[in-house]
Amino acid sequence: HADAAMYQAKSSGRATFHFYNAFRHNIESREQRLAKQIQRAIEQNQLVLHFQPQVAIDTGMPTGMEALVRWQHPERGLLYPEAFLSAIEEFGLTESLTKYVSRLACKHIARWRAMGIPTPPVSINITGREFCDLRLPNILKQALAEFELPANAIVVEVTEGSLVHDNEVAVEVFKALSQAGIHISLDDFGMGYSSLSYLKRLPLNSIKIDRSFIENLPMDADSAAITQAIVSMARHLNLGIVAEGVERSSQAEFLLRLGCRHAQGYLYGAPLDHAAVQAFLEARAAS
Ligand code: C2E
Ligand code: MG
Ligand code: MG
Ligand code: MG
Repeated sequence: HADAAMYQAKSSGRATFHFYNAFRHNIESREQRLAKQIQRAIEQNQLVLHFQPQVAIDTGMPTGMEALVRWQHPERGLLYPEAFLSAIEEFGLTESLTKYVSRLACKHIARWRAMGIPTPPVSINITGREFCDLRLPNILKQALAEFELPANAIVVEVTEGSLVHDNEVAVEVFKALSQAGIHISLDDFGMGYSSLSYLKRLPLNSIKIDRSFIENLPMDADSAAITQAIVSMARHLNLGIVAEGVERSSQAEFLLRLGCRHAQGYLYGAPLDHAAVQAFLEARAAS
């Protein structure tokens, strides 16, 4: 193709146009290859979940876990979402991913419950655009039903910035999830909108303060002020609140003083594969 384009470019004298096309062709086919690989990865169960605990800051007891997708690639090793999520969205594989991830999460939860291991609610990440599709509540309800789990076994996390907030269908999806008893948490809060009016309209249960505000606590005055405002707002709106990306005890102590009692971050544990998180839950239950 490149040769043909170069030949055409020379003979027509429109070099830039033809070179551009040859270049674009290469990029597209590489992304399409990636999309096909991901599709195969879903079919062949190469996607796995790691689980990161959310804890009560004062006791360290787990109050939730976030399921985070990884791709166990046959040649490239363990890949993180950053390496493949945008391709999933671009090639319309998001629904397949959500079906896969919610089913897999429920499968793990059901197995732990059957073993008598206390398992806190597991958060599943959903992109905002999926809230524009009325099939989403059914996908989640089906995953729960297949493994005979109650609605409170899972929580939906949606990033504030990905929400299409003036979409009528999205409001319906929020209501359907809420009516089904599935809790919704607003992820990466503070990075999304300048208007907070949607907080009144949508049936939300909790918000997660974005890591960028937690990062420089307690010393940075601006981060401290913003965090304090978010915590106070959440409390007045009767929303649960979790700080994300907590890495140091000085951050945790400061959050507790502000009235933020739940956290997630490397201080309490990195995301663990299902065997390691099972050991973590068993150890916590025994203590
Ligand atoms: P997120 O939902 O905000 O998840 C938190 C991310 O922060 C995770 O990155 C986690 O490993 C990382 N993290 C946790 N604690 C700390 C900490 O103390 N310090 C630092 N520096 N980082 C921390 P990860 O696993 O790479 O996931 C990145 C994003 O990919 C997630 O951000 C989420 O938006 C998305 N994602 C993950 N799994 C799924 C999925 O199954 N479906 C969809 N649609 N998106 C997913
Ligand atoms: Mg999340
Ligand atoms: Mg987050
Ligand atoms: Mg984040």
